Amino acid sequence: LSPYKDFVVGVDTKVPLADQTFTTAINFDNAATTPPFDCVMNDLVEFSPWYSSIHRGAGYKSQYSTKLYEESRKIISSFIGADMDYHSIIFLKNTTEAINKLSNKLLALHKDGVVLSTCMEHHSNDLPWRNKYTVDYIAVDKYGELSMEDLKNKLISYGKKVQLVTITGASNVTGYINPIHEIAELVHQHGAKLLVDGAQLVPHGPVNMKPVEHPQHIDYLVFSAHKMYAPFGTGVLIGPKDTFRESPPDYTGGGTVQFVSHDHIKWLDPPEREEAGTPNIMGVLALSSAIKKLLSIGMAQVESYERALTRHAYESLSNIPNVELYTNKSHLHRTISIIPFNIKGLHHSIVAAALSKEFGIAVRNGCFCAQPYLQRLLNVSAEDSEEYMKDPTLPMPGMVRLSFGIYNSIEEINILTKALFHISRNRDLYLQKYNIQEI
Ligand code: PMP
Repeated sequence: LSPYKDFVVGVDTKVPLADQTFTTAINFDNAATTPPFDCVMNDLVEFSPWYSSIHRGAGYKSQYSTKLYEESRKIISSFIGADMDYHSIIFLKNTTEAINKLSNKLLALHKDGVVLSTCMEHHSNDLPWRNKYTVDYIAVDKYGELSMEDLKNKLISYGKKVQLVTITGASNVTGYINPIHEIAELVHQHGAKLLVDGAQLVPHGPVNMKPVEHPQHIDYLVFSAHKMYAPFGTGVLIGPKDTFRESPPDYTGGGTVQFVSHDHIKWLDPPEREEAGTPNIMGVLALSSAIKKLLSIGMAQVESYERALTRHAYESLSNIPNVELYTNKSHLHRTISIIPFNIKGLHHSIVAAALSKEFGIAVRNGCFCAQPYLQRLLNVSAEDSEEYMKDPTLPMPGMVRLSFGIYNSIEEINILTKALFHISRNRDLYLQKYNIQEI
């Protein structure tokens, strides 16, 4: 069993669904959301007597809440190597909101810049840039890995027009970790800045933005609390204070101003001016509590434990007939704990439904909010794309995704392996039993 099994809540909880026959469930869907740490929920209960709004109250509770809230910025800053004098650590709802905010902020700085995104992004690091900038996409190879050559070529051919390169730290589909520091150096040589979408990277291993004078430093970093053992509702955007000083906040209101009259507005300095209204104080405290716990385990330990799970799962799946694996085995040492696969002859939704309903194993299937990447990996043609646009009832191609957290175990993977053997050997049975349109 995992030495970290008891760190999270809900692992042995009875599933309250009428059609579920399992009392316990195995959760291999951690790339979507991890369960919260037990200690995080306890910390929230312990904090609850001090529950009060921050920054504006003279009362003891408000002062105490403010202290904890502001201390959370310091905890996060030292966790990922930010510089509190240079950077703003802004609390938002999630990664998606953080990227949207940055895409608005940067418009004030560069009206007609080029943004280079990649062909392996989550929609949240693709759609916010469209229709605001000229966006081009760095290619991936047939295994889905980023082409450094294409990045270099695009940086040369767009030249000074490139304002930002925005790239995922680790893919939520294949798990590949991008060489963010090497990329940062290249991007800086061309006078541009780098945003790293850290939603999948930050929870799974050590991340350091590096000092701002270092040629390989990361300019902007975003991530979400709910993928790192804290509850929903908190995202983090980190970037140079100057980025947020250049333009008025995109949301205005309480908490954003130093002085207002009918004729004047003086905005507060960032981060406050970018956190309009009463913030998610409990969510921020939960995130800093989860970070303290992760640090006590050690991020290098998190990485090596999860990598051992991933290797074991990869080896096990390789021996199952009809299983198609999409990622490159020789690159498992630079992937986070994700394995995408299919069983030949069975739609991904049937495999995921059978795993859930008959074996109590939760996985994710489909396109994982990264449709262009899946289209590339599954060789979906432009003509096929047209058909999917026209007819939303067509079953979409996709994959099944396993994603592990530190509380998962080799034993659980062995249960999954048996289940997949069974499904693979009895494909006809499952084809009869499950109707894709009804799943
Ligand atoms: N980027 C990546 C790589 C992700 O995996 C996700 C979540 N699946 C997001 C962005 C969006 O995160 P959130 O839903 O917390 O905004």
